[in-house]
Amino acid sequence: MMPDVATPKKRRKDAVPVEKGMNGGRLVTRCLQCVIMKTAVFNTKPYDEEFLRAANRAFRHKLTFLEPRLSTQTVSLAAGYEAVCVFVHDEVSAPVLDQLHANGTRVVALRCAGFNNVDLKTAARLGMKIVRVPAYSPSAVAEHTVGLILTLNRKIYKAYTRVREGNFSLDGLLGFDMRGRTVGVIGTGKIGAIVARIVRGFACEVLAHDVRRNPEVEQLGARYVALNELYRKSDIITLHCPLIPETYHLIGAEAVRRMKPGVMLINSSRGELIDTRTVIAGLKSGKIGYLGLDVYEEEADLFFEDLSTRVIQDDVFSRLLTFPNVIITGHQAFFTREAMRNIAETTLQNVADVEAGRACRNIIDAGLAKK
Ligand code: NAD
Repeated sequence: MMPDVATPKKRRKDAVPVEKGMNGGRLVTRCLQCVIMKTAVFNTKPYDEEFLRAANRAFRHKLTFLEPRLSTQTVSLAAGYEAVCVFVHDEVSAPVLDQLHANGTRVVALRCAGFNNVDLKTAARLGMKIVRVPAYSPSAVAEHTVGLILTLNRKIYKAYTRVREGNFSLDGLLGFDMRGRTVGVIGTGKIGAIVARIVRGFACEVLAHDVRRNPEVEQLGARYVALNELYRKSDIITLHCPLIPETYHLIGAEAVRRMKPGVMLINSSRGELIDTRTVIAGLKSGKIGYLGLDVYEEEADLFFEDLSTRVIQDDVFSRLLTFPNVIITGHQAFFTREAMRNIAETTLQNVADVEAGRACRNIIDAGLAKK
């Protein structure tokens, strides 16, 4: 027989943090994270559910996973939920917010950094809190960006299929040394700074452009220049600024005209930074030598879904797919285990913080509402 002695339980490494305090003369222990919120998770893919369920072991929110994207057609599904959780293609427009509010929702938790899909003015008017995940893994996006550059340069996408078909010819696979090439980085925040650091490792020159300088990027030896000089001198141009009214179609006809012939253009930020029709014209004329995209202006109707048995109706996108010097990934730059874990944990913490009335630095400032 085992002795009937209670052995002290080992404190679990992932134990939930608690706060001790006095309440009415009694010592109380309050779980800092276990503020339960009834949350409708829209646009759920199996991987979202997996990471949110795992992270929720420390929070215990009541999560309901819904496949549809949030829109005026689906907003009624959120009736009675205090919080909704959404992603980049969900519609958080004025009519959607009005209906969410009328049905009792007070928090919209974005499981992403960008918030260009949210009508912040309406949210502020209704007193609804919008929270986001400002940084989940800038390295994930930066590393994917460099992956696009190398794949295009060394034509790894072609080599992969050729070798599988027993074609070992090198014709058409000629690349260039990265060493000594000039990379123009537009937007040198978290992601752009890491891209600059990685390509400095290849001994590239870096020209940077931003509305404010990042000393970390200057320390790498990058030089801040006006857009004109960046366009004129860069062999590779990579976009890492946010989508705001000032950056919509940043890469239009005038920008392409100023670029070096044969330039490589990379966009892993937001599709609308590029005027796709202009870029197609640039590809046809040879002015643009390579195009690598992880985002596309009309991606909301395409990306994150398996459309392999359907006819794609977007002729502009279909035209892009015909070029031998274009590669497109479907908004996957963020998609690493580390980023998914951070997204899930931060999203659930944001929801708990708002519900508990704690300071939450991930609330989007209503002052950022478009004028
Ligand atoms: P960040 O806020 O750290 O950096 C953005 C930088 O852009 C800042 O330094 C800002 O000053 C600069 N900027 C603002 N306006 C500008 C302008 N007019 N011209 C030039 N620079 C300007 O953001 P981040 O974390 O580096 O993310 C950058 C972008 O990447 C996000 O806005 C988002 O759209 C995109 N993103 C994409 C993915 C993906 O999976 N493809 C994932 C996360 C983020």
